[in-house]
Parts: sequence; C-alpha cells; structure tokens
Amino acid sequence: MRTSVEKTSAQNNGNLPLSKPIIHELRCGATSLIEGTIMMVDDEPTTMEVMQAYLEDAGYRHFVLLEKSSRAMAEIEEKRPDILLLDLVMPEVTGFEILQQVRAHAQHKHLPVIILTSSSDAETKLKALDLGATDFLAKPVDSSELILRVRNTLAAKAYQNQLAYYDALTNLPNRSLFLDRLDWFLRRAERHHEILVMLHITLNQFKRVTNSFGPQVADQVIAQVAQRISSCIRGSDVVGRGIADVNALDSLFRVEGDEFSLLCPTMNHMEHATKLASRIVHVMEAPFNADGTEVYIWPSIGIASYPVDAKDTMALIQCAVGASAQAPGQEKGSFHFYSSELNIRSLERLQLEVDLRHAIEGEQLLLYYQPKVDVKNGHIVGVEALIRWQKPDGKMIFPDQFIPLAEDTGLIVPLGEWVLNEACAQMARWQTQGLCIQVAVNVSAKQFHAGNLVRFVSETLNAHGVDPQYLTLELTESLLMKNAEEAISTLTHLMALGPKISMDDFGTGFSSLSYLKRLPLHELKIDRSFLTDITNNSGDKALVSVVIYLAHEFGLQVVAEGVETQEQLDLLVSLHCDQYQGYFFSRPVKIEDLAPMLSERCAHISI
Ligand code: C2E
Ligand code: CA
Ligand code: CA
Repeated sequence: MRTSVEKTSAQNNGNLPLSKPIIHELRCGATSLIEGTIMMVDDEPTTMEVMQAYLEDAGYRHFVLLEKSSRAMAEIEEKRPDILLLDLVMPEVTGFEILQQVRAHAQHKHLPVIILTSSSDAETKLKALDLGATDFLAKPVDSSELILRVRNTLAAKAYQNQLAYYDALTNLPNRSLFLDRLDWFLRRAERHHEILVMLHITLNQFKRVTNSFGPQVADQVIAQVAQRISSCIRGSDVVGRGIADVNALDSLFRVEGDEFSLLCPTMNHMEHATKLASRIVHVMEAPFNADGTEVYIWPSIGIASYPVDAKDTMALIQCAVGASAQAPGQEKGSFHFYSSELNIRSLERLQLEVDLRHAIEGEQLLLYYQPKVDVKNGHIVGVEALIRWQKPDGKMIFPDQFIPLAEDTGLIVPLGEWVLNEACAQMARWQTQGLCIQVAVNVSAKQFHAGNLVRFVSETLNAHGVDPQYLTLELTESLLMKNAEEAISTLTHLMALGPKISMDDFGTGFSSLSYLKRLPLHELKIDRSFLTDITNNSGDKALVSVVIYLAHEFGLQVVAEGVETQEQLDLLVSLHCDQYQGYFFSRPVKIEDLAPMLSERCAHISI
C-alpha cells in the first residue's frame, strides 16, 4: 500500500526528498502561488487523485499525497506543505487529532488546514473550527470550489508570509527565513555531501550614516546596498546552482539593520566564494546617493563553510560573523575567510591575479624559445615559444605557476593573444632576414573554445604579413579529446588559414590511436613522461615505437619532448622519430641567446 507520494507534475525536481524552505509566493505575483506544495491526507486514494487532477488543471504542480494518517505529522515536518487538505474520518489517527497536533506544533501551527468532510453536520464543523480549521470542503469535491478555496487560502498565507518573512524596505527575506533556510540547506548539504558557504556582510560606518544624515537617508542607502549586492548574485553561477525550487535571489537575506547574509549551496570551489566576495566589495566602491547626499559604505565580509568550519547552523553563523569582524581594513571593503589556510590561499591568488593583469598590460611578459631539432642531422628546424613572466623586481615566474590561474580567470585569452602577436612579430623579423623557421605557439583550451580563435589567428598573421605555413599551433591532447566534433571543425578552419597543427602532450589524454586518424593534424608531440625512463623501461620504449610507427602511417610528423641525454636521442634515431626538443640540445632561451644557435645550427638560415 502506498503511504506517501510526493509529486511534482510539470517538472520532477529529482532527488530532492527533503522539505523545501518556506519561501514562497506573493512578491513575484500570482504566478508563484501555484508553486505552493499541497498536501492531502485521506484514507481514500481515489479522492486524493481526483483532487490532484483538478488542481493540476489549475496549474498547481507540487503535491504530497498521504493515506497513512499516522504519518501525517512526520510528513508535514519533512515536506513542509503550504496547505493541508485533511479528511476527518480515518482509521488510525483522525483528522481532528491531526488538526490538534498541527495547531500545537511550534513551527507549523499557522499551516492552513482545509477540512474535507462528507457530513454537513454542523456540530462536526463547529468542532473543527474550534480546533483551528481554516476552511471546509464538502465531499464529493466540486472542482471549481476546490480551486477557489485553495487559491484563496494560499494567497492569504502568502500575504502573511510576506509580512512575516520579508523585509519591507529591501524586499529581501529576513532573519526568520534565513534561519529556516540555513537549516534546510545544511541538511541538504549533509545528505548530498556538498559544501555550503555562508557570507556574512556587515556595513562599516553605517551607524555614522544614520547619526549624521538621519534614518531616511540611511534607509535609502540600505535599499541601494541590497540592490547592489543582488546584482552580484543575479546571473552568478555560484548561488543555488543546480537546486530546483531555489531562486538565486532568495539566497540573500537582510538579517539585521545593516547586516546581510548570503547562502551559497553547492559551492564546491572556494575560489568561487573569493570571486563573489570580491565582486561585492567592488560594487560597493562607488558612493551611494541618497537625496543628493553622497555616502561611502564599506562592507566587511566574513566567509565560513560547512562542513570545513562548522557542522551546525549556529556554529556556522558564528564563524561567518566572527570572520567578518576580522576582515582587514575598515577604510576599504574587504573579506576574510574563517579558515586561515583558505585566507592565505585566496589572498595569494587574488594578488597573483591583480599582478598578472598588470603584467599583460605592462611589459612584464616575454617569450623564450626552445629549439626543435631534426633527429637525423641535428639541425634546428623550428622553435617553440614559451611564455615567461618577469616581475619588476627581476624574479622570473614560470608558466606552471600562472597559466592555470590565467585559465580560471579568463586572463588566458588576452595572454594567449599577446603570445601569438609577439611570436608573429618575431616571425616577421626572421622572415625579412630570410630565415624561414617553424615557430610553435601553445593554444590553451579556453582560447580554443572562446570562439574567435580562427579570426584572431587570421588577423594576426595578416597584420604581421608572415607566411602562415611557418606557424605551428600546439593544442593539448586533452583539449582536442573533449568535444571531437567541435575540435575537428575548428581545426579544419585553422588549417585552412595555413598554419600547421600539432597535438601536444600526446599520451597523457588517453586518446585512442584510431581517434588520431579523424583529426586534421600535422604533428604529434610525445609527452615528456614517456621519454624520462625510455632507456630503461622496455614498456615505454615499445609504446613510443608504436606511436611513432602509427603516426607515420597517418602521415604525421613526430616530435619527442624532454630529451635530456644522448642515450634517449640515440634511441629516438633508431625508432625513426623526426624531431626532438629538450635540455640535451637546449633549454628554452631568450631571443638574444637563440640567435647564435640559429646561425650555427639552422639549415635554412641565409644571413
Ligand atoms: P609544454 O607546451 O609541454 O612545453 C614544454 C615544457 O617542457 C616547457 O616548460 C619546457 O621548458 C619544458 N621542457 C622542455 N624540454 C625539457 C627537458 O628536457 N626536460 C624537462 N624537465 N623539461 C623540459 P615551460 O616553459 O615551463 O612550460 C610549461 C607549460 O606551460 C607548457 O608545456 C605549456 O603547456 C604552458 N605554456 C607555456 N607557454 C605557454 C603559452 O604561451 N600559452 C599557453 N597556453 N601555454 C603555455
Ligand atoms: Ca607545447
Ligand atoms: Ca608538451
């Protein structure tokens, strides 16, 4: 026998068996009234099914049907319906008893209860009224009457909710709703093993604003602050993502006069919290204007997370509030993580991001070049351009330390454009000197998917007037494997412009060899990790040998990366590898150090 069925008709909100928060209705207008969850308790399933069908016709979508009346209170606590349609005569626990329990319940005593009764007996109705019934419906239920009662009851409840749970000035949910929702999110995070992040935002200097300009100006400022913070959340992918029923904007609460809290469920990367917090600090920088008065407000944001910092609601609030009090600098907005380790990491990253932006704009980036050498005769046949970042204090930073960050922040796109432009400028200088040498440039996944790569490559080649066939674009194997169809299409367009295409780091991305045949490519670079032990490890040797053989069958040229010894080179000669790159010949070097190598070891040089 079915005991309880939770149904979402239009769209199943999947594996979310928990109750939903009590946020609802009104403020978004009549349409959101149909979002309410309607619970029915009746020992006759057919009655409930008929009522559900009527209500579905009227647009309602969320239902909880329960035959087993003894489970009623447990279900109410778990599912938190917005309205209860309750049969009176039931075995086990009667409707009267359930009504009594609801009204005695601290949290649910205001739940609207419509009594279903086949008896028109006045005494029964009076008794139900005495116990706190909201309304009555006669069985068999008439569809229009049912819809009318449900709609009116939900509207009244929504209005009460609006008064009870929303702040009239900002229209944001208030502290009561915050506590309720935090509890719900925490339980959800626990079940789904997710991280829940809380940002507590306090406004420095706000008391001074109230004292100096009066409550009217203060109110206007608060309303604007709420709008600015909301603007950071709108369109943000970090708040409430992936949770049906959760409107991102319902995650921001005005918890006190000048304090706001933001809940970010399912935030699985703490970097997102850094991003969100710095966005909020940023939007608060401009002065607020209240009745012609310019007011500056600086937020202090404290960030804490479940389960890292705290395991229950009160502890989490304490951590976030405590962290906000520690946010440095009262003269400027700032944020602070409760966990000191996250603080250090996020500050370092933020600093690195700021510095990298300057590096791209300023003159701190430069290209090093590493020769690509013909295995058979030792001639330099090309170079790979590798980026370096030289800080104003002279310290050199290597790509491994900033390329991942540049990828995360999107800075890789301007950075990659700088590299291509610089490499083409160098090619142009070489070509005017009569030096036709292959120049390889690394292209990152973000650049590849940014959508304007083909146009940018074409424009850059034209701008510098270089012969495109001497440019090689290196793309990693993992990048090319992600979306084969898209990769093939972009590669075909790139190739049509003239450059050579090389698959970098081959062997690390688990692509099958047959897959190679489908991709438009000129070159394969075998990853350094296969070369490291090749002289001792027969497995690696066999693998490299097969890769070279098959690549040749597919008409591809093979480059071995990371050759450090004569023995490795000898082996590559015996395996008929075409080119190699590695410290054995040369490390990546500055352009000044490359010039003498080129004049000595380059077959194509004519100067
Ligand atoms: P990659 O494209 O695989 O570049 C080869 C890396 O191996 C270079 O490191 C090079 O210095 C190093 N290497 C070359 N020969 C040897 C050797 O014999 N032994 C050892 N141990 N290492 C060798 P680098 O310059 O630090 O670059 C690291 C990675 O950063 C590159 O790997 C590439 O993925 C990325 N990168 C560098 N420049 C750019 C760029 O302009 N754009 C993009 N998107 N990525 C870049
Ligand atoms: Ca490369
Ligand atoms: Ca590589």
